[in-house]
This record gives sequence, structure tokens and C-alpha cells, in this order.
Amino acid sequence: MTKKALVLFSGGRDSSVVAGLLAQKNFDLDLLIFDNGASSKIDLIEYRINELKENFPLSKIKVTFENCSSLLKDIALIHIEDDIKKYGYNLICMGCKLAMLSQAVCYCIDNKINLIATGFVAYENEWPEQMPDVLPLLETMLKKYSIKFINPIYFVESKVEIKKILSKMGLSTNSLEPTCLFGDTAALPDPNTVVNYVNDKLILCYNYIENYLFSKYNLADSDPILLRNNTRNGHKVIVLSHCFFNLFARAKGVSKANKNWATVDHILSFLREKNVGIIQLPCPEILYQGLNRDACGIENYDNEKYKKICQKIVDDYTYLIEEYLKSNLEVQAIVGINGSPSCGIDYTYSSKRKKLNRKGVFLDKFNEHLKRKNIVIPFIGVNISSQADIYEAIRKLHCELEA
Ligand code: SF4
Repeated sequence: MTKKALVLFSGGRDSSVVAGLLAQKNFDLDLLIFDNGASSKIDLIEYRINELKENFPLSKIKVTFENCSSLLKDIALIHIEDDIKKYGYNLICMGCKLAMLSQAVCYCIDNKINLIATGFVAYENEWPEQMPDVLPLLETMLKKYSIKFINPIYFVESKVEIKKILSKMGLSTNSLEPTCLFGDTAALPDPNTVVNYVNDKLILCYNYIENYLFSKYNLADSDPILLRNNTRNGHKVIVLSHCFFNLFARAKGVSKANKNWATVDHILSFLREKNVGIIQLPCPEILYQGLNRDACGIENYDNEKYKKICQKIVDDYTYLIEEYLKSNLEVQAIVGINGSPSCGIDYTYSSKRKKLNRKGVFLDKFNEHLKRKNIVIPFIGVNISSQADIYEAIRKLHCELEA
């Protein structure tokens, strides 16, 4: 079977070496060349393309020019003043690379290519898009669309080495890369700043890709849709019981051991860091018995009046979950509080403090309702004997679901 790779190609030394290496390994190459609207002397690239075709006659080399100026504008230019205030640097070049990668993903899906190669090198690893801390983020972005991201010459530590490889391949050692106006203004920020920038901007990349796929493919087409089902759009939400974030909601007695608001902050920032949106369920017990209720066993809630209150919440939140799913977001899990007569998942308690291996009334209803509607979302129970348990459980949950 023919091996295909897309090379983010500029005509420069590094991407030319990558194209040559892949051609030597018998890949058919799609060289994708971007014009960001600020590049000059783009015709120089033609010379390099001819060199590659002459030196690697056995590889099929297809060349495509794409304009990424509109997406670059959305990602990095429209809000440039706010961005500079927020991040302290001009990060247009990073935004430009995100725009190119987003369009490259669409190109790969259209052309059934699952490998994107760049000419990133170690001697330029201070440049935002080539920083070691940034590469995993780009890799994850592509992985969501089942595309492998490779940087075959990332070990190369000097321009001299690159020139030697070019010579060996029979290619000229000049750069032949168009110059970009933004390149002259590029800054070298610290990796954390760039990571934050990329994490903030990825949502625009995913929106672009998803909109492209929605408008291009109708739902009857199988291949791209399969890819989409495998990958989702990268946006995730998690549904949690109310009192994960509002310790005041817990019944008297239960809340005594759990007044650690610092851990609530940890959970929130952890989920924020992972870009997971939060859906906080209402507390059904408060709606039934008020805030100043005593802790009690499941018998107290196993009645029609309470179940009716629960059913109303279940109906409303099922509708809300369906809306997220329809928009192709991933609802990662519904997380309840073990031991609670309402929100327990793995166990609850009787009024005589006997541990019962069943769900609490509220989340049991929720689970049954989703099953009837064929909506599969894992229900995860967390212990609340300490807030550290909760934080650890959510961290594990996220790792498991990410794996
Ligand atoms: S009913 Fe659920 S949300 Fe309300 S206090 Fe109990 S466990 Fe927390």
C-alpha cells in the first residue's frame, strides 16, 4: 500500500530535508504551502519543488497552495491588542502555525492522509511553535482527527548539519523560503506563556475544523463521519452533583468533615486546565426538604413526592445533555457522591447506617432515564470522606477517560 504524508512545506531548508527524507522512504508526498497574506517572494518555492521532483523521481509529489490569512486573522490578529495585554508578547507566528495546522487537518481528511510532518528542528526550539512544551499540544490536536504528527529532524542541532543533509540529497543549500512580515516582529516568550496561548486558541481551531467538516460532508458520507466519531471536536463537559462545589448544600452532619474550599479550587482549576466544562446539577434534597435538613438514610427519600422532584431535574438535564451531544461535545461522565441517599453511585446508606450497594434515588432515576433513551454516559461514584479523595478521584477519572 502506498504511504502518504503531508509536509507543511515552506521551501526552506528544514521542510525540504523532511520532504527529501520521506521521499527516500518511498512516501508519496503532498506538499502543502501556505500563504498567510504577509509573505513575499512565494515564487521561490517553485525552484525547490522542481529540485525535489528531479531528485526523487520515484515519489509522487503533489503540490497545493492554500491561503490561511482568514483563519490567521480570526486566531491571532482580530484580538491582537487584547492578546498582547494578556500574554505580554506578540504571538502571531504561533497563531499562524495553528491556522496552518487546522487547514492541514481538513486537507488530510479530504485526501485520506493520516500523517503530517514538519521541519521543526532543535536549533529553533526557542521559537514558540517548536518549543518542546508546545509539541504535545499540537500532537494532541491532530490525534483527535486520527492524524499522526511527526517531526523527523527535531534532533538536528545546527543549520550547518541541515545544509550537509541537503547537499547529500542533491538539493541546493539556500533557504528558498518566502519572507514573512510577521516573522520580523516575532518574540521569544517563555514556554508557559505559549502553552497558555495555544490552549486558549485551540477552541478556534476546533471550531474551524468542525465547521469545515459539517459544511463539506453530509451525514450519509461514511469515511469522514467515521473519523469524526472517533475524534469528536475536542470539547468536553462533565456533570457533577451540586455539592461538589457548594459545601453549604450538604445535610447537617455530613458537611462537618468537608469544609475545605481550597480543594474545591483545586478541582475547578484542574478541570479548567484540562478544558473540561462543568455542569453542576441542582441539589434535589434541598428542593425537597430545604437547606437545614438532617442527614438521613435512603428510606427518607424513597417516596413518590421526592421522586417527582428528581424526575423534573432528570428531564431538564437530559435535554441539556442531548443538546451537548447533538453539538458533538463529549459528556465525559456523571459524577455522584457515594453514600448519599440521592447522589450515591456505588453505595448508599439505610437509616440504620447499613451500607447498601445501590444508587441513591436521584442518580438511579437519572441512570435509568438515560438508558431508556440509549444515551451511554458513565456514572462515577466518589467518596467524600475527605476532600482529597474527591480531587484524587476526579483526577483519576479524567486520566481514565482521556486514555
Ligand atoms: S443530594 Fe446530592 S447534591 Fe445534594 S447534598 Fe446530597 S449529595 Fe450533595
